[in-house]
Amino acid sequence: MIPLTEAQNKVLAGCKVLPEAVVSITQACGLVTAETVVAPELVPPFDNTAMDGFAVRSQDVAEAPVTLAIAGTVSAGAAPSCEVGQGEAVRIMTGALIPHGADAVVMVELTQTSSDGSQVTVAKAVPAGNHIRRAGEDLNKGQLVFEPKEVLTPGHLGVLASLGIYEVRAYPRPRVGVLSTGDELVEGPQPLQAGQIRDSNRHTLLALLAEAGCEPVDLGCTPDDEVQIAASIRSGIASCDALLTSGGVSMGDYDYVKKVLDEIGDMAWMQVAIKPAKPLAFGLVDEVPVFGLPGNPVSSMVSFELFGRPALRKMMGYHPDRWHRQPVLGNTTQDLPRHKDAKLHFARVKVHYSNGEYLVRSAGGQGSHQLSAMAYADALAILEDGEGPKAGETVPLLLLR
Ligand code: AMP
Ligand code: MG
Repeated sequence: MIPLTEAQNKVLAGCKVLPEAVVSITQACGLVTAETVVAPELVPPFDNTAMDGFAVRSQDVAEAPVTLAIAGTVSAGAAPSCEVGQGEAVRIMTGALIPHGADAVVMVELTQTSSDGSQVTVAKAVPAGNHIRRAGEDLNKGQLVFEPKEVLTPGHLGVLASLGIYEVRAYPRPRVGVLSTGDELVEGPQPLQAGQIRDSNRHTLLALLAEAGCEPVDLGCTPDDEVQIAASIRSGIASCDALLTSGGVSMGDYDYVKKVLDEIGDMAWMQVAIKPAKPLAFGLVDEVPVFGLPGNPVSSMVSFELFGRPALRKMMGYHPDRWHRQPVLGNTTQDLPRHKDAKLHFARVKVHYSNGEYLVRSAGGQGSHQLSAMAYADALAILEDGEGPKAGETVPLLLLR
């Protein structure tokens, strides 16, 4: 058995950052920028009002209450057709351009309009600049907006749109194929024949990939047959940036994935000192990283968390600090027993945030076939080798959501 970090480093070393591409901002959420973005224009593009109210000359309202003549109206999106002369005010709506002559806005709540709509009485003095949002106050022309390697969030995409930038150089979404292997696997609602089970791994892995910002590619299910497994893997690597297979990497007589990958790729077969997810095959087939994940449903998910997601984040250009989930500390509300076996255990736990701390309890059956507890879990609790933490002790957690 090799330690987890050694296995992770082996996997990460085999995965390269994808070549950058030009991506539409409509497709770029979660991607990492590969260029410096500089503001080509001002945001906001012009001085405008933060309030509905009246644009005035601050001098004119210094002795408020004072009554001013209404010279017109400016709404958002309109070019003002009037100016604010001495003793005048212009009705103005949030986001509208400040008309010439005005240097302040009085919010509507501090005003009273005459019944014929020709005059407004301002109740209070306001300073120059009142409620005016200045041109360039968010971003100045020529200002650095994003450095390369910025992870694009919805807010980032809005900033780009506000600047009229609709495409950005970024590391693309990896296309990742998912292949299930096993004679026992079937798909569909039909009654199961003796020995059959339904394929669940493909669906969890496809969804994990989508959640990780990748483009999942369904390569279906292949029986335990060398020729068919080789054909499926070959067709997958022809169109994908990475491949996930599940099953066929343990010690059984029909575990052909390992055998096929050994033949067609440069593979390392690892026994990692963790539970679940001890077996892992990883390597390159025609330069494409292939992850031979274990077949047990919880193992394949945990293996994806510990190896697949970090590797894919590296391929997506993420900073190394963000490849792995960072552990947070929780307090156990019950014993989380384990036995000593020289492995790091990843227990499926429920986490409840209360009074500033994460309270931790088991999410249910901890067998690697018991997917329901994994589905129910909020986190993986990292249990060091030993008897396991007792109630009230702290435990590191990898939060899954
Ligand atoms: P293997 O690694 O092929 O020995 O599989 C280990 C266990 O995981 C066996 O009980 C398999 O039936 C089960 N298994 C393998 N692939 C899948 C899958 N795609 N969906 C659900 N269970 C699976
Ligand atoms: Mg199998």
